[in-house]
Amino acid sequence: MKSSGQPQRRKPLNPGKGLAPGKPIQRKTPMPRGAGPVASVPAPRKRQAPKDPDAIGAALPQDVRQARVLLSGGLCDWCGRPITGPYSIHHRLPGRMGGRRNKHRLAALALLDGTGTTGCHGLLESSRTLALGAGFLIPDGAAVPAPELYPMFLHQVRWVLVTPEGFADSAPLAA
Ligand SMILES: [Zn+2]
Repeated sequence: MKSSGQPQRRKPLNPGKGLAPGKPIQRKTPMPRGAGPVASVPAPRKRQAPKDPDAIGAALPQDVRQARVLLSGGLCDWCGRPITGPYSIHHRLPGRMGGRRNKHRLAALALLDGTGTTGCHGLLESSRTLALGAGFLIPDGAAVPAPELYPMFLHQVRWVLVTPEGFADSAPLAA
């Protein structure tokens, strides 16, 4: 094998878009604390969302979600603090019974910080007693199943009914 001098590269080395010198690597999202690899893997979706928007399990339409955030003025309905991080829309009506037809009405929803397992949403999901007592959960057998007529303990300071225009003062939920 004859060779003279340095072998020629056909292509120059690609400098690429590597790390800029002097610039530290930054994570876009913080590392989860205390969450093991198993817990961080999302559960697989068991089935496609049904086409009927009122069907149990149907996704909340984006326009309804935005309208509900606006109605609450961007404040968590439970703690009253401005939402700056993750938030979610809580369903006051459970999936069965009245929940099927009414579940996506504004009054059937609550704006809460956190997810179903964190923040105020996690708190209310973890305590059925708390959610029921504050009107954030409307039981299937409620005497007044219409969510517009079912008071909610807004910000834990005032009882309100949720109307399309906003919150209206209400008598407390009968114990
Ligand atoms: Zn909150």
